[in-house]
Amino acid sequence: MIFQDIGNKILNIFLPPLCYGCQKPLLEAQKLCGECWVKLQFIRSPSCVTCGLAFDVDMGENAECLSCLDGDFPFDLMRSVLKYDEFSKKLIMRFKHNDRTELLPLFMDWFALYVKDFKNIDIVMPVPLHWKRLFKRKYNQSALLAQKLAKNINCSFDPFSLKRIHATQPQHGNKQERALNMKDVFSISSEAIKKLKGKNILLIDDVVTTGATIKACAEILKENDAQKVFVLSIARVNLPL
Ligand SMILES: [Zn+2]
Ligand SMILES: [Zn+2]
Repeated sequence: MIFQDIGNKILNIFLPPLCYGCQKPLLEAQKLCGECWVKLQFIRSPSCVTCGLAFDVDMGENAECLSCLDGDFPFDLMRSVLKYDEFSKKLIMRFKHNDRTELLPLFMDWFALYVKDFKNIDIVMPVPLHWKRLFKRKYNQSALLAQKLAKNINCSFDPFSLKRIHATQPQHGNKQERALNMKDVFSISSEAIKKLKGKNILLIDDVVTTGATIKACAEILKENDAQKVFVLSIARVNLPL
């Protein structure tokens, strides 16, 4: 270990680690420089107790947003670490497209804090990609997040039971149209149904935008007798679902 530490220190002198946000050299083996760190908009209290929407003002303990009060969402609880803005978009794009999987430990540090809101998770699974997109991109970034998180919290990881059977286009239209677009996009194999019955499932996505995708996933899991469905994402567009 000591030799490894010395080795790392020598390596840092010649090849200092770069900030994941702005690529400036860092003095220590941290992940983001101070300037980038303050750009992160973490979603903390006050926020909706059910879907995690950040509130501008504190509405008191256990307050729900209007969508959660009105709507009947197929998932039970959702949390997102960051507001989706130019900076979080940049980090996630790096993770997604440039094989910058070294961002994984940073995301896991954040997930460790937010996952505490979900009780008795049995299975962690990613929002699946269609095989064509998976082929193009080489890996499913949400699966990578889900796999590592499952290991960290000692739950089973299941990237196979939930499948995306249609490649969908980016989401347009109003809420009803978007929901209709997502209908029949996901399926659960017959052999997986038994496995998921009565289980509490944590769904992982990188970014939640309109919520149509995670709602469609949660819906089919609930239809197949999953007990609870939780959602955790790196970022979300901070608008009501
Ligand atoms: Zn930076
Ligand atoms: Zn809400």
